[in-house]
Amino acid sequence: MSIWDQALGVIQSRVTAENFSTYFRPLHCADVQSDRIVLEVNDAFFGDWVRDHYQDLIHDAVESIAGRPLEIEIVTATTPIPVPASDPPKSKSIVEEEDATLAPVIPITQGVKPKRLGAFDLNPHYRFDTFVVGPSNEMAHAASMAVANDPARAFNPLFIYGGTGLGKTHLLHAVARRIYADRPNAAITYISAEEFTNEVIKSIQRQEMDAFRARFRDQCDVLLMDDVHILAGKERTQEEFFYTFNALHGAQKQIILTCDRTPQEIPRLEDRLRSRFQWGLIADIRPPQLETRVAILQAKAERDGISLPDDVAFYLARLVRANVRELEGALVRMSAYASFTHQELSIPFAQECLRDLVDHREQALTSESIIKLVAEHFDVRESDLKGPRRHRTIAHPRSIAMYLCRKHTQSSYPQIGRAFGGKDHTTVMAACRKVDKACNNALSARSEIESIERKLPI
Ligand code: ADP
Ligand code: MG
Repeated sequence: MSIWDQALGVIQSRVTAENFSTYFRPLHCADVQSDRIVLEVNDAFFGDWVRDHYQDLIHDAVESIAGRPLEIEIVTATTPIPVPASDPPKSKSIVEEEDATLAPVIPITQGVKPKRLGAFDLNPHYRFDTFVVGPSNEMAHAASMAVANDPARAFNPLFIYGGTGLGKTHLLHAVARRIYADRPNAAITYISAEEFTNEVIKSIQRQEMDAFRARFRDQCDVLLMDDVHILAGKERTQEEFFYTFNALHGAQKQIILTCDRTPQEIPRLEDRLRSRFQWGLIADIRPPQLETRVAILQAKAERDGISLPDDVAFYLARLVRANVRELEGALVRMSAYASFTHQELSIPFAQECLRDLVDHREQALTSESIIKLVAEHFDVRESDLKGPRRHRTIAHPRSIAMYLCRKHTQSSYPQIGRAFGGKDHTTVMAACRKVDKACNNALSARSEIESIERKLPI
């Protein structure tokens, strides 16, 4: 087996089956020399994409096989190389399976083609009548109902934003189900922004852009796109989505988008898309209040036939505050354990069986975890936040990260400075003061901080 074939084996074990067949199968090893390996692709854009996103991974995989670092050169082939057929889907990774135990979700777009939804594709639990409405989500809920009852007339697009696990996907499915019930012939496309990106790349690679455009622009009455923050920095995908958006909007087709932040806060998003995201209605979902969390738990317990005493419901709801998925996961875990061990649900029992959740929560909020989260939020590298660069695109997230470390951990200024690659404590103090002042003076600064805080496990 060649070095490249063996390296592919290493890569395959590190990425999802979907990404492997999209990005790595099409790479053709044209040459291996003592200091470099030359990979050919059919399309320069595809090559750039792979270089931007997977260079390090490929480099590490090749080095682990060759026993020395080789330069990775990705070039466009002069004569087209054949594109291998896709692999059958591999079993899920461990991470996904762990997730699944917390939230039993039926994947609705297996395979790569976004398809018209049939009712069977929808998660059976994600309906309007199972969505518990409270002050934190009533606007998003009402707007979703309005759109489901009168697509493309109420608000277009509807843009729903909020932190992870707060019910955005749930609402999208509920809308699809309602539209589908009223108009069985409607062509409803549900796709995550990540899958849309994969589709764009694959279609370019296979020279099937016409079919792609027909599918999204001409054969679609309602487009539900989940997690559009993923489009950050993906220029070619943004361009394609811009035309899709225009075609659908112009033809009075309903578009609903979900995101983990407001349109203004999505980094590296073209202004023309940003402005379109704001054309219709923007509705937020915030973490639910205590009473709503208790109501969600009680509804779930009733659905699943779990007998949940009120005091235990309140205990759980106080413990898990920022994420409904985790809240439900804690209930599922506890009731499973209770039924294995034939015990009743009680507060001491809950304390015992959710102990790692409590410990984990305490551990989770370290400077490291805040730096990681802020880096993800702004789409910058953690090493840049810890490094010396002073460009605004780095300095701004760095100041915010320092501020959040100070606010949410017990660390001192010098400790925070050390977590940021050995910065002086005066630098940290200045950053915290600056962010504090900005928050006092501008609503936008405050909302930016809040949208990051929503993701903290607090
Ligand atoms: P998001 O897409 O915002 O990350 P999901 O829609 O996947 O979140 O929701 C996570 C879990 O929490 C799902 O099981 C969903 O049914 C449940 N959930 C969230 N909000 C509510 C709510 N208001 N009422 C009932 N269940 C909810
Ligand atoms: Mg979601």
